[in-house]
Amino acid sequence: MLKICSICHRISGNNQDHLHCIEKRRLELENEDVKRSIPEKLDISKNSNDLGLEVKAILDHITREKEDG
Ligand SMILES: [Zn+2]
Repeated sequence: MLKICSICHRISGNNQDHLHCIEKRRLELENEDVKRSIPEKLDISKNSNDLGLEVKAILDHITREKEDG
């Protein structure tokens, strides 16, 4: 009986999801958690409006630096 890997949807030879796919998915989920948790931490001391302006200022600064250089 062939098993289809639920992550990459290709045939898996050993009746379970590919181990490298499981590992990849796990790392992706961890990365998503990190991305989600950073704004949450910043939100403790700042509201999202202030944060947006701050990020925009930083991006503007970086853009200007690139143009100058
Ligand atoms: Zn797979």
